Formats: sequence, structure tokens, C-alpha cells
Amino acid sequence: MNNSLTPFGFVHQVAHGAVVRLHDGVGELLGHRPYSDDLRRLLGEVTAAMPLLATHLGFEGRINLQFQSLEATRTIPGARTQLMVGQVDHHLRVRAMAKAPPEAGGSFRELLEGGVLALMVEPADSRRAAHQALVLIQGERLQDALETYFRQSEQLPTLIRLAARGDTLAGFMLQRLPIESAAGTQADWEHLLILAQTLTEAELLETPVERLLARLFADSPGVIAQSSRAVQVSCNCDRAGISRLLIALGKDEVDALIAEQGQASVTCEFCSRHYRYTPEQAMELFVAADRPPSATRH
Ligand SMILES: [Zn+2]
Repeated sequence: MNNSLTPFGFVHQVAHGAVVRLHDGVGELLGHRPYSDDLRRLLGEVTAAMPLLATHLGFEGRINLQFQSLEATRTIPGARTQLMVGQVDHHLRVRAMAKAPPEAGGSFRELLEGGVLALMVEPADSRRAAHQALVLIQGERLQDALETYFRQSEQLPTLIRLAARGDTLAGFMLQRLPIESAAGTQADWEHLLILAQTLTEAELLETPVERLLARLFADSPGVIAQSSRAVQVSCNCDRAGISRLLIALGKDEVDALIAEQGQASVTCEFCSRHYRYTPEQAMELFVAADRPPSATRH
């Protein structure tokens, strides 16, 4: 299995975590647009972070990590990132994209200067409340910002490490669990944290997961690796989803597009796939959307 997420826990139940390794599909995903080396690395880290964030999701839905520039309408010197999105769903399907001039470079903080980074949890079941929180753009790396988010917004002390080298992406998370319900103590947590801090970037990218966990936690009570789950790095857009998007856009907007271009053409922001609708196909969308469900024929 080339793309995998391996959750792990401990006998004393003080913490849990996960290791993610991604390679298949990464070149395609990050190759759709011309990114600077710095932005490509950041986008790789976003891609590696998403499955970690979904490890303990516990319900069907989607997690979005989205950066939006607040300065898009102002003229600012230098090239800036306008938009960056990472997404993962409960099947561990991951995709990510950014919009920025090809020369936009710099550190995490420089790349995302002048905007906000939001983490959104969207349950598939609309009766469950969606949840949104800001991730402060601070620290040298995305991993620092995510650690701060977990500590401040979720009250969960967390260690996160992310790495991107070419088309190989990796991530590691160690997160404290409520001590009250565990057999272990605060001292046990602090011990694990010290051990996890010895993880190097080369190890994270290269060492087989079982060996990595055995090496890191050799000195602590029973680390338990659970079975690995497959992670899919690819866009999951399809015509049905694009059709829903056009219906949401409204008939007037779509009619205007058709009047202008002779057809409605939509390009997926994640994978650059084109979807085209002839005037007849577009009309059929709205006819079908207006039809009461009882009259729908299968
Ligand atoms: Zn797509």
C-alpha cells in the first residue's frame, strides 16, 4: 500500500496519533498549476496534514482547510497567495490546490500573509452542526500553526510534523487524550512528547511506519499500531457534483454563461478537468431540479 494512514495508541491511553505517507497521485495533484517550490512544499504539507486531521473524525463528512486572502482587491507589491484549499473526506480522499502567481514564494507565514486560514468540519448529515475555526497564521511552518490550533481551540496538546520532498509527503501526529479517562498520567504524556520530538524529517519520510513507531517509543509502555487505512490522493469531482454547483448558481447565471459562450463550461479548480454543458443539457438540469421527487423516474 503506497498511500497509507496508520493510527496508533498506547496501552496507558494517554495519547493517540497517526502516521501518514503519500506518494501515489501526488505528482498529478501538485502538477496542475505552476507553483513555486515554496508553495508546492506548503501545499504538500497541507495534503499530508488533511488525513491526520481526519484520523479521529468519527462521522461521515468532510474537512476543509482553506486560506483566503483578505487583500485580493488591493494592489500590493510582490506576489501573494490568493487562495489555498485542502480537503479530506471520511473515505480519506484528499485533494488540495492553491491560486498564486508562479513567483509567490517564502515561508509559511510569508506565503499566507494578509489572509485567514480556516478549518471547517462539514458533516454529511445536515442535521449535525458544521464547525468552523480559525487557524492563526503564526510560527515558521504549518505544523506550528496546527499545534497552536489544537492547543487553543480544542484544548488538546498535540505534536504535528509534516514533510514534503518531491512527490513524497509524510505527516505525524501525537495527541494527548483526556487524562481522567486514562490509566496513565500527565508525566506519561510528557514522556511521550519528549520521545516524539526526536523524530527527524528524514525518518518521517523514509523509515517504515512500524519501525518508526518502535524506534520512537521503544522506551515507553506499549505503543499499539492499528491497521493502516488507504488514502487516495486525487480529485473526486464528477459531473453530478458540477451539475449541483450549476443548479446552485441559478438559472439566470447559467443562461448568461450560455449566451456569452454558447455553452456552459466549468473547469474544476483542483484537477483542471473541463465539464461542458450544451444549452439543452443545461436546460435539462433545471427542469430535473424543478421536478418534484415523486415524479422522478429512475
Ligand atoms: Zn476535479
